[in-house]
Amino acid sequence: MSYQVLARKWRPRNFDALVGQEHVVRALTNALSQERLHHAYLFTGTRGVGKTTVARILAKALNCETGITASPCGECSACQEIDGGRFVDLLEIDAASRTKVEDTRELLENVQYAPTRARYKVYLIDEVHMLSSHSFNALLKTLEEPPPHVKFLLATTDPQKLPVTVLSRCLQFNLRLIPADAIGGHLTTILAAENIEAEQPAVQRIARAARGSLRDALSLLDQAIAFGDGRVTAEDVTQMLGDVPREHAYALLDALADGDAGQLLAQAARLAESVSDFGALLDDLCATLQRLAVQLAVPERVAEDADEQQRLAALGERLTPEDVQLYYQIALLGRRDLPLAPDPLSGFEMVLLRMHAFRPASAGAPSAAASGGTAPAQRGSKPPAAARRASTPEASGTTAGAPGPGAWHALLATLHLRGLPYELAANCELLVNDAADITLRLNEAHANLLSDTARERLEKALREHLQRELRLSIEVGITEAETPAERTARLSDERYLKARESIANDPVVRALQDGLGAEVDDDSVRPLDA
Ligand SMILES: [Zn+2]
Repeated sequence: MSYQVLARKWRPRNFDALVGQEHVVRALTNALSQERLHHAYLFTGTRGVGKTTVARILAKALNCETGITASPCGECSACQEIDGGRFVDLLEIDAASRTKVEDTRELLENVQYAPTRARYKVYLIDEVHMLSSHSFNALLKTLEEPPPHVKFLLATTDPQKLPVTVLSRCLQFNLRLIPADAIGGHLTTILAAENIEAEQPAVQRIARAARGSLRDALSLLDQAIAFGDGRVTAEDVTQMLGDVPREHAYALLDALADGDAGQLLAQAARLAESVSDFGALLDDLCATLQRLAVQLAVPERVAEDADEQQRLAALGERLTPEDVQLYYQIALLGRRDLPLAPDPLSGFEMVLLRMHAFRPASAGAPSAAASGGTAPAQRGSKPPAAARRASTPEASGTTAGAPGPGAWHALLATLHLRGLPYELAANCELLVNDAADITLRLNEAHANLLSDTARERLEKALREHLQRELRLSIEVGITEAETPAERTARLSDERYLKARESIANDPVVRALQDGLGAEVDDDSVRPLDA
């Protein structure tokens, strides 16, 4: 008994059977049922997502003997001959193998003739971007004035290579990569129909390995069935495909999240025993980081299997979105530079160590935290770092018995004032503090803070705190000592400048600037001891 490969046996014969291209099916179905037909269709998308399959179903829909329909009957001779690949009015050309201008010319010479039997003569040109420029010109001439009985169905993996003149004359449909869970579901249906025993993890593994291509998934499934002698087990599939690449990526990210360089290098050494392609490993790392970034940004978006979801969620609790972006960038650049490394393993190790070294310091770092170029800037206004009077340690009283500025600062701190009374007090220096009187001088630049209410509330607070009757007078003038407000601003400036300096001198930040072109957003610098 001859074995028919699954991709052929299970090729969808109508739109309902297509997997994962609902947007294309809906548009075509509507167009067909309303007979709004275009003369040229272009199907784009990566290999194995169903471009020529859609085109063949469309050819049937146009030529089914029951009439133009979104649901070709599958039983009339037109439908059956198209399914069997022997319909005279469906001309299939693989441009990848027929690129000479004579071939296209020969093909297009017959365009003017009416179809032999069918409603439409359908030209299905696969990998149309491979046509020579001469062939394109021949095709374009026909597209400019298409005979009414002709339909062009073009397919390509690389629409960028098509001349705009051709693109503009086609109705374009972009077929998507098929999600792994849709592929998995389809494989499960096929396995049940074929009465083949299969373990779900094995099926999921194949679905993911196919990377969005149903054809690749079916051909892997064929291999797995042959490999397992009619059964599909997780163990066989692992043997067939090698270790799960995701597992490597997760192990590495776990070590990174732990901040454990030793574990990281041990993991790399373990990988070196079974993996030879470190570039592919970095690809897997990038792919996992991308899914992790999505998980962190839009948790409900990731629709992979439950296991994957769980692992991503666990990692997401230990890594920040900034970590993930940084690792991705380092992995991507490391992938590019891998051929320049003395040897692949050492290049790979350096990428991992760079990730480990560059991870931004988390909260709790000694003096300052940096925001790299990618982090959103938290812009805040900084008081101008104007030179301010330094406080002298504290015995500058101009009036006998008057305490120095330090005493006023300390007293103010214990008053627990808020709002205007606080602002008022903070911009004053203390001139007199004796049994009955307290006299303050308000910095004239802040004279607007002085009001009866504010003065009375400050007086009340002082009475309560000092537990004595006293009279508070405030004069406005040029202050001589540093006021509490000036002191706060000076200390804040000093802390800010210190934080900026410590960031500028930080070796990790410098390496990020040199290696990745990062820029420090000075406005986002926040002293942590503030
Ligand atoms: Zn039919």
